[in-house]
Amino acid sequence: MAGKALIFSAPSGSGKSTVVGHILKLHPEIEFSVSATSRQPRGAERDGVEYHFLTPEKFRSLVEQEQFVEWEEVYGGSCYGTLKSEVERIWAKGHVIIFDVDVKGGVNLKKYFGERALSVFIKAPSIEELRRRLVNRNTDSPEAIERRVAKAAEEMLYEDKFDVTLVNDDLATALATAEKLVGDFLAKP
Ligand code: ADP
Ligand code: 5GP
Repeated sequence: MAGKALIFSAPSGSGKSTVVGHILKLHPEIEFSVSATSRQPRGAERDGVEYHFLTPEKFRSLVEQEQFVEWEEVYGGSCYGTLKSEVERIWAKGHVIIFDVDVKGGVNLKKYFGERALSVFIKAPSIEELRRRLVNRNTDSPEAIERRVAKAAEEMLYEDKFDVTLVNDDLATALATAEKLVGDFLAKP
């Protein structure tokens, strides 16, 4: 039984997790798609919650068995992807899927889901502000921040491949706009 999907993508630090977390709190019928990854868990991450943690061999074998909707090598050789089984699990409950994925993943998911999905590109007001947010977030080394910022410049080029752009400047305004976008999309037949 096919349902709807919401795709939120952005260069790292633009506010994807913040916006997706807000939408999840408001809508019990929207469920987060847990991606699979071949990287190791970090900190308190739990298998099946933040990610399905797979060995690189298992990940590759599932790719060969065409078990992924989309997958990608993102940072430092680690692979990330959305399993078909995850999509089926959420739709079987009659829930709407929400994705928090990088920009290329977002474009690929939109191609796969077509009109069933709303794809949203979240944009920080500037690259300088994006760097400031990553520094303040305090989760990445200075080198990792510079890597993410350099990648962001390239990812900005994908903006026009999304259905809509959400500028995340003032947070309260961005969250209200996200609520409206989601509400309108869910109300559509
Ligand atoms: P992403 O998931 O895209 O990497 P996050 O949601 O983690 O981004 O946001 C990056 C950092 O910026 C976080 O510390 C978050 O609290 C902060 N942040 C998000 N939106 C805003 C905003 N509008 N103004 C200032 N800081 C913000
Ligand atoms: P992290 O290792 O910091 O958790 O995530 C690294 C990157 O992988 C982030 O940009 C995140 O959006 C992206 N990512 C997470 N899940 C997926 C997925 O299923 N597909 C793709 N293409 N990217 C993903």
